[in-house]
Amino acid sequence: MTKPKVYITRLIPEAALEIIAGACDYRIWPEEGTPVPRDILLQEIPTVAGVFTLLTEKVDEELLRAAPRVKIVANMAVGYDNVDLAAASRHGVMVTNTPGVLTETTADLTFALLLATARRLLEANQYLRQGRWKTWYPMLLTGQDVYGATLGIIGLGRIGEAVARRARGFAMRVLYYNRHRREDLERELGATYRPLDDLLREADFVSIHAPLAPETRHLIGERELALMKPTAVLINTSRGPLVDEQALYLALVQKRIWAAGLDVFEAEPVSLENPLLRLENVVALPHIGSASVATRVKMATTAAINLVAGVTGQRPPHLVNPQGWKG
Ligand code: NAP
Repeated sequence: MTKPKVYITRLIPEAALEIIAGACDYRIWPEEGTPVPRDILLQEIPTVAGVFTLLTEKVDEELLRAAPRVKIVANMAVGYDNVDLAAASRHGVMVTNTPGVLTETTADLTFALLLATARRLLEANQYLRQGRWKTWYPMLLTGQDVYGATLGIIGLGRIGEAVARRARGFAMRVLYYNRHRREDLERELGATYRPLDDLLREADFVSIHAPLAPETRHLIGERELALMKPTAVLINTSRGPLVDEQALYLALVQKRIWAAGLDVFEAEPVSLENPLLRLENVVALPHIGSASVATRVKMATTAAINLVAGVTGQRPPHLVNPQGWKG
């Protein structure tokens, strides 16, 4: 029996390749550090039944039209804002993601970023390496306390909850904003619901964990930043476009908020021309929220399992558009 054909848009961990090779004939973009060029992807997909994608691939109407045989787009990420979900459903294409396996790793990174930003770790490291450390003095490189502070979580889902659990170890008061109340977590974690504006007014740290969707684009803009305390820290490990970067830059320069810790940007990879990178009160990371060895392997194998299920007539475990499933 001939195996279904699939295309893989990047070099992925061996364990995931083995899963795919067991059930499919695959072709692959063999580079790790460069995304597959769009024209190559458009040439590769007309004959395949499934495609393994990363968040660097835009799966839109044009791509779906060029892929009449594709049954599944298996995205190696929990977020799927790179995929036009409505278009995929219209074309009868299943879309899958990799929820859960990256939750704790991304929450760890969020907390690392929160601590690094609050306590100015990167600035302090530079200060030392540049030979500027001449003496100890009372207000040298002073930051904000994390222990006992108020944390406002925007999007108390899987990662937001994992961040809230870590915050308990720092005796933080946890506020959250979601479209739906999480009374289970209010009981278990002592999290308190607040409308967004109230959360922004009260929080010492605001951490964003809502997904990118049309209604969350620029959820944090000039008006929202103006509600925050001058000592507040904004952390974003979700998706860059949830924050209006121009408004954030002005708020930071004018010291209307204390600092920002960013793992994600409106345009990625971030340009060195981005003025946020010139600010000492910004800690910037290259989208490494889920980047532990074990988690990246789990994400790749989860996406591989979804892909194989989708091209062999089974319902994939992590289907995000049930409309794409033809049963
Ligand atoms: P999740 O479990 O689906 O949680 C998302 C939360 O956001 C839910 O609590 C949801 O609650 C809330 N939400 C959705 N729309 C909202 C809106 N319009 N306003 C306010 N809250 C809203 O997702 P997750 O697994 O925690 O992942 C969250 C996001 O993190 C992903 O979408 C991805 O973009 C990002 N991420 C980034 C990295 C990284 O490397 N930096 C790694 C992993 C994930 P309601 O439905 O009640 O509103």
